[in-house]
Amino acid sequence: MTTMPDKLTSSEPPNAAATEAQQAASAARKIYPIVKYGDPILEKPGAPIKKFDAELKQLAEDMFASMYAAQGVGLAAPQIGLSLRIAVVDVTGGKNPEAKIVLANPEIVHAEGEVREEEGCLSIPGFRGYVLRPQFVTIKAHNAKGEPFEIRGENLLARAFCHEIDHLNGILFLQHLSMLKRDLIKRKIKKLRKQGEW
Ligand SMILES: [Zn+2]
Repeated sequence: MTTMPDKLTSSEPPNAAATEAQQAASAARKIYPIVKYGDPILEKPGAPIKKFDAELKQLAEDMFASMYAAQGVGLAAPQIGLSLRIAVVDVTGGKNPEAKIVLANPEIVHAEGEVREEEGCLSIPGFRGYVLRPQFVTIKAHNAKGEPFEIRGENLLARAFCHEIDHLNGILFLQHLSMLKRDLIKRKIKKLRKQGEW
């Protein structure tokens, strides 16, 4: 998921210190290219994670590195071409290591309230839309070691949890928009694809 308006993400350089720290942290990491809208993998549910091994831990760290490189606050495995139920979230964008959350096989157990806020998606770059999401959500998931946990998120964190869990179910934020807005975005993407810009 992305949170910053497009003009910030596309034209203003990111904070230099944060970028250096991210580069140092991701020096040994694999940066995956982000799959864009139109690839069918984004619209099919991922398979549950069954093996919590060293490979999975490495995948989670590579997903964080890939997410930071793309300046996102959430990334789900289908977005890097893997149809698996794992996502990573960090609403601080790499500023606070304690804010890194790995969600393997996550499920929403409780949702409360409603907030309508603009959101974007790394797989649908350049397009944003207002999406109604719960203000609070409690989810249960497993971390990269396979340990179960529950976590409650509010506002942006709740939104990120919902957006990423949607990805694991093959749902994109476009599906939460009005048909008019959704069709408009789809038409623009079609045009970009014809021009070889998507
Ligand atoms: Zn997304």
